[in-house]
Amino acid sequence: MNIQQKIIELKKQEATFQEIQFELDASKYELLAYYEAIINMPQGMLPWDVEFQIRQDYLKKINFLNLKEGKIIFISDTHISSKEENIEYLKLIKKFIQENNIAYLIHGGDIGDGMLNYASKYNTYPKQIEHILDVYLEDQNLFQYILGGNHDRKYQKKECDLLKALEKEKLNITGVGYYQAYFKIANKIISLQHKSNKANKLFTPDFTICGHTHQYFPKEKKITLPTLSDNFPNGKRQNNEPGFVVLTIQSNQQKTSLKFDHYNISTNGIEYQDQRQYTFPTEECSHTYTYQKKKNYNSHHKKYMRVNC
Ligand SMILES: [Zn+2]
Repeated sequence: MNIQQKIIELKKQEATFQEIQFELDASKYELLAYYEAIINMPQGMLPWDVEFQIRQDYLKKINFLNLKEGKIIFISDTHISSKEENIEYLKLIKKFIQENNIAYLIHGGDIGDGMLNYASKYNTYPKQIEHILDVYLEDQNLFQYILGGNHDRKYQKKECDLLKALEKEKLNITGVGYYQAYFKIANKIISLQHKSNKANKLFTPDFTICGHTHQYFPKEKKITLPTLSDNFPNGKRQNNEPGFVVLTIQSNQQKTSLKFDHYNISTNGIEYQDQRQYTFPTEECSHTYTYQKKKNYNSHHKKYMRVNC
């Protein structure tokens, strides 16, 4: 029996998400990825009531965070263990987080190198993992959510999942999966991505925050994150300075504003660059997810399922 079939069997016995996680010894993001594969299975493969339960669990668990107020620092593409890693930047960030009372950090992927452009000292997967665990940020007052990028995926393929290793060894770190994850800001759906083409097809996000390009670029409904390493696009530091972004969320009954402050790290240290602001009306709950029932199921089942956020 493969893992998907095992999940379906457990769900037929009405097992909860946590019980299935325990049974499979799977992290939350791993189980969500299996759920997504089950949801995308061809129609008629599983009973509608089981599918309903799986979709409902999926929707309840899919957002890793929902913040209505506060500050989130976004970093990305640290490429630790590569030739272009810069541990000094991580130290500067840690100090900045403490001085500015920032409680949340989100990493946009490519935490490590994954044996693609490694520094000679880190020429095996275990050596890289050990080095990353040594130098990666940790702060008891900081909650971190880390996305795996294409470089980090290489470790997972070698049976040493970097996200799991960081979750296990460091305080307050949660792996949110590879390439794409969802969270919410004031009930708006935000897609966190590493690579634009890795979007999940199940919902349309209100806003996208994306790693991988190594270059800060704000657009109408999307921001790409700068690198926090010396790996610059086209090898040029000019106009591609390393840096990070701080999001400040402010919400009252009428409106919610998201302010993205962009900082560079130059040879003089951290330098403030510019701000991008987005404002929208505050809604108690902006989304009802609706799935249409597949055609060939019996009509006595509910036609739609609705799950409020
Ligand atoms: Zn990268």
